[in-house]
Amino acid sequence: EHKLLIVKDIHELYNLAQIRRDFIANASHELRTPLTVLNGYIEVMMDGQEPDSMWVKPLEQMHNQSERMQSIINDLLTLSAMESETLVGKEKTVPIAPILKKMEQDATQMSQGKHSFRFELDESLALKGYEEPLKSVLMNLISNAIRYTPEGGQITVRWYEDAKGPHFQVDDTGIGISQEHISRLTERFYRVDTARSRDTGGTGLGLAIVKHILERHDAKLVIKSQLGKGSSFRCDFPRSKAVH
Ligand code: ADP
Repeated sequence: EHKLLIVKDIHELYNLAQIRRDFIANASHELRTPLTVLNGYIEVMMDGQEPDSMWVKPLEQMHNQSERMQSIINDLLTLSAMESETLVGKEKTVPIAPILKKMEQDATQMSQGKHSFRFELDESLALKGYEEPLKSVLMNLISNAIRYTPEGGQITVRWYEDAKGPHFQVDDTGIGISQEHISRLTERFYRVDTARSRDTGGTGLGLAIVKHILERHDAKLVIKSQLGKGSSFRCDFPRSKAVH
């Protein structure tokens, strides 16, 4: 009997999707508190170790893993918020160029001098939307470019408008992505090479979040890439979202 898998109509499908979303949101929320407590005890134990103790390394690793779990939970909560029907508050005019100027400093720090950056920003162009979610789109794409581009690479960040509307675009000269993976990148937890990606500190949820936030802005993510050459991630916003 596989009753659970038989979906009779679109309403039932919709309800199942809602149940899944609620479950993920609730489970993530519930996992937060115990994890904070565990992390607190790990930190207490780390403080109490003699420098030559055999527990220094294992405790450090426990600490890293619990921080990793925390970022996965945070990402899942963001994703649930983005998927739910309502985004809190009203759309505002978001000044993208100044935000990107600030992010340039964070990006330089994150890259530790390993990449060269170019920021080409239309300072007279702003966007109608939700500020915090939009910031996480910008930061996700920039930090991916840094994490997947080896030392010596070039990262170009552009904020501009053409006849189709406003665009935010990040180009890198990094490891690239092969065609068969490109269409699946925005699936949750999808990572091209888990062994290699794991030590870049990501969760596999970043692009899923980006996609949902863009959908909330009637925008699209266009990914172009060549293995070994580099990638280009472009957000296409509708013309109606431009503010001058
Ligand atoms: P992660 O946390 O693994 O970075 P994302 O959802 O942000 O998760 O990205 C999904 C996968 O897409 C990554 O694991 C990586 O394999 C690939 N990817 C994302 N951005 C880039 C990029 N700029 N260059 C090459 N590969 C990328």
